[in-house]
Amino acid sequence: MRSLALFPLTALALAACAPKEALVTPPPVAAASPAPAPYAPVIPEGTGVFAQPSSLPFQAPDFSRIKDSDFQPAIEQGIAIKRAEIEAIANNPEAPTFANTLEAMERSGQMLDRANAVFSALTAANTNPTLDRIDSEIAPKLAALRDAIYLNDKLFARVKTLYDQRASLNLAPDQLRLLTLTHERFVQNGALLDSAQKEQLKALNGRISTLQTDFGQKLTAATRDAALVVDSKAKLAGLSPADIAAAAKAAEDRGLKGKYVLALQNTTQQPLLVNLTSRDTRRALFEAASTRALRGDANDTRALIAELARLRAEKARLLGYGDFASFTMSDQMAKNPATAIRFMEGLVPALARQQGREVAEINAMIRKTGGRLTVQPWDWDFYAEKVRKAKYDIDESQVKPYFEITNVLENGVFFAAGQLYGLTFRKRTDLPVYHPDVTVYTVYDADGSELALFYFDPWTRDNKQGGAWMSNFVEQSHLFGTRPVVFNVQNSPKPAPGQPQLISFDDANTMFHEFGHALHGILSNQRYPSIAGANTARDFVEFPSQFNENWMMEPRVFANFAKHYKTGEPMPKALVERVQKAQRFNQGYALGELVSAALLDQKWHALPASAGQQDPDAFERQALAATGLDIARIPPRYRTSYFRHIWGGGYAAGYYAYLWTEMLDHDAYQWFVDNGGMTRANGQRFRDMVLSQGNSRDYAEMYRAFAGRDPGVEPMLKARGLK
Ligand SMILES: [Zn+2]
Repeated sequence: MRSLALFPLTALALAACAPKEALVTPPPVAAASPAPAPYAPVIPEGTGVFAQPSSLPFQAPDFSRIKDSDFQPAIEQGIAIKRAEIEAIANNPEAPTFANTLEAMERSGQMLDRANAVFSALTAANTNPTLDRIDSEIAPKLAALRDAIYLNDKLFARVKTLYDQRASLNLAPDQLRLLTLTHERFVQNGALLDSAQKEQLKALNGRISTLQTDFGQKLTAATRDAALVVDSKAKLAGLSPADIAAAAKAAEDRGLKGKYVLALQNTTQQPLLVNLTSRDTRRALFEAASTRALRGDANDTRALIAELARLRAEKARLLGYGDFASFTMSDQMAKNPATAIRFMEGLVPALARQQGREVAEINAMIRKTGGRLTVQPWDWDFYAEKVRKAKYDIDESQVKPYFEITNVLENGVFFAAGQLYGLTFRKRTDLPVYHPDVTVYTVYDADGSELALFYFDPWTRDNKQGGAWMSNFVEQSHLFGTRPVVFNVQNSPKPAPGQPQLISFDDANTMFHEFGHALHGILSNQRYPSIAGANTARDFVEFPSQFNENWMMEPRVFANFAKHYKTGEPMPKALVERVQKAQRFNQGYALGELVSAALLDQKWHALPASAGQQDPDAFERQALAATGLDIARIPPRYRTSYFRHIWGGGYAAGYYAYLWTEMLDHDAYQWFVDNGGMTRANGQRFRDMVLSQGNSRDYAEMYRAFAGRDPGVEPMLKARGLK
């Protein structure tokens, strides 16, 4: 179908008959110069189960036919086809049009997308050594394919021609958005640079990538080296026998038999600090964590970070941006570091006051338990836990009987989607799944029509990655006439056979969260698949999911699902209130460590190239002092020297996104509260103006159109209990 519409293969077949016809048809008199041969590039044909869309309803993957051995050939063929398609677009002798360039790019690579969607779902949720091996083999090939697209000069020339003419092309808004985003992506890869600058960019990219890799390796080694060695069991008082045995084993593995080794987690705070009763041990463990990669040895990361920050700023300047944050954030909702920093600084006054209250509360607990010290960061979790136990303790075994998983899903998560968006769900057993734990539902729209498929894979397995996530097997697209096939994966501990399938409060909350992502996919109403559904910016993509968490505790929803699995009784009111209060505990710390880390990230990446190379110690000291937060007691979740998110790749100038989407979530919920709450009409508005929109328009404009104003921090502060 793709080939038919784009590259006239059927016309090619007809054209092959032309010489014969020419024998009987006299040539027209005016045909002095022969017509050029029609443009008919050769696109290879795929074979196997992914060569064509699945014949199952919604083009659902046919797991009854898909074998592990299908993936590598399918992905490699898919890459070859996509390369040929891209070459064909780039070399098309016709003048560029939106249809023969941008839309053609959207249509390219469908076999690859089909195979890759299933393959990446399985490598994350149900992997095995064969899939893992294929994964490492195809990763560089996929990277090379991206280069073949975004470093293709001829392709860029077509995109640029269209972009420069965009005002006169009469494009629909989604087309203009697709064109703008595509153009920007090329520009960010250096398409506008001359050849000397391109060489410069290549050198910068090479050095940056080496430094990022080196950082990761040094940090791993530094973290290992910084593990705390303890020479007596007495110093570990408070730890569980299992923790002590693990510490003894870790020592033995390092050739330190008879001692104890406390290995470090990646964050500043260490989970064991909650239990260690020896203040000296706590302090030693905390200091080991917060000085890692700062010891002047081979694994000290400071010199590397100083160079990396400078080179990123130089790269941004070369590409026409003021700083690296502006470069990476240009396609985000916040767009630039100033906006992100202003947003976080807006949280600070209320947050600093809450930090003061928590410090006082913890100091009171220290005095109450006979201590005379004032709290230091290594004491915080130890005493905060005592405060929590005294004020908010919740016994999971009391809560869990009210959260039977199918009940949570069908009478909670689905019920809320019905109330808001008019959706209904029916379980189906006729479609093949990749594991017997997976269930499938058809999603129906308010008018009873079939809207989507939803797969749910709840239980932990040895071959599943940790955490929870959503993705698509099939992306919604009017261009292809496809409807969404969406899945949610999470990791709840699986009950023994025959036991009730009860989950924790947090896991129930995760179901609402992940289903918020699923709704972003299910309710997508877009023409172009690359800007449909949840294919949105990092500082937007968690908005629908965090927003959907709000409905779990909505009284109408909670009453509908939180029923005792045996008696059907609702959860007692006092227990509900305790659960809700516990959510707001220790937020001065929890939010504080995120805000200071996110500000540190933004400030490092808001440096212009003209600022030159920084001294990391001085820079960090200054940046943190400027936050106005209680950094001495509540240090950032990551300090500069071990901030893997930002120096190891991925999240540079992006750590704020977690907080930003939380702001959107609470602000949107406040809009509902102000406008009559959980009604179908309000849900429909959110569906039409946000959930169906994908990445088809500027996020800030999208939000403003929905809420009638820009988002603010007040509702977030209230939800965190800081107001
Ligand atoms: Zn999420």
